[in-house]
Amino acid sequence: MLKRAVIVVQTHLKGLGLFQGNADGAASPALEAAVLAALQRRPGDMPSGGTTFSAKRREVTLFQLICKDKGIDCDPVDGFWGPVTQEAYERLVHLLDRGTLPPLWRDDEPSDANPHSWPRDTGNQAAMKAFYGPPAAGPTGRVQVPWKLRLAWDKSQVIKHISCHAKVEASLDRVLQKVHAHYGDAELKRLRLDLFGGCYAPRKKRGGSTWSTHAWAVALDWDPERNQLKMGRDRATLDARDYDFWWHAWEAEGWVSLGRSRNFDWMHVQAARL
Ligand SMILES: [Zn+2]
Repeated sequence: MLKRAVIVVQTHLKGLGLFQGNADGAASPALEAAVLAALQRRPGDMPSGGTTFSAKRREVTLFQLICKDKGIDCDPVDGFWGPVTQEAYERLVHLLDRGTLPPLWRDDEPSDANPHSWPRDTGNQAAMKAFYGPPAAGPTGRVQVPWKLRLAWDKSQVIKHISCHAKVEASLDRVLQKVHAHYGDAELKRLRLDLFGGCYAPRKKRGGSTWSTHAWAVALDWDPERNQLKMGRDRATLDARDYDFWWHAWEAEGWVSLGRSRNFDWMHVQAARL
């Protein structure tokens, strides 16, 4: 089980007075015994034979019950860590860290709108090349940024213009204007949307042989420090409800957030479909 989930279980057991050790995420015989004792207290909530599960499965069972106690859907309680438990874990971490549950995934699906017919970035990237031309050819358009944007890794550098592909220029300009009109300068700064991770980059996808959408200058990265490639919505900050308008503005123009669509690389938004 994930270390953070073990800490949740340990903290729960300490609250019940069943575990005296530190909530440090480490396995121990004392922890195993406490998990069993906690499960034995609530036979009505357990699957049949639950107390005879392996120690590992008992621990996951208790974790699932803790999620349910907090009102987080985690059925069936079976001691197996599958996608439902992973989703429950991420919601629980969000609740513990920020005091509120995240909006339900299904409440706010990414939009299918694609008014400019952005090409799909799939397979051999033929559609990307047909629409945008060869990769790594340099940006051909430029958009003025309506708020004070700074380079994420060198905040003393103010970005007044974003160099992009000419074909996304008008769309990018509309998104930035709309977002600025909605949030205003102070709120954009508070939301860390004044931290820019770049647009054009003549490189391949990380860990792959195909081109990054940045190589066509049709992708932008925002607040990369808190929305790193491998962070899911349990850790990335750009999934919070405060950013709903932000994402809806991009999606109305057909741009795709990898975070909202695939739950990784939350910094990244692109004028290319999946
Ligand atoms: Zn990116």
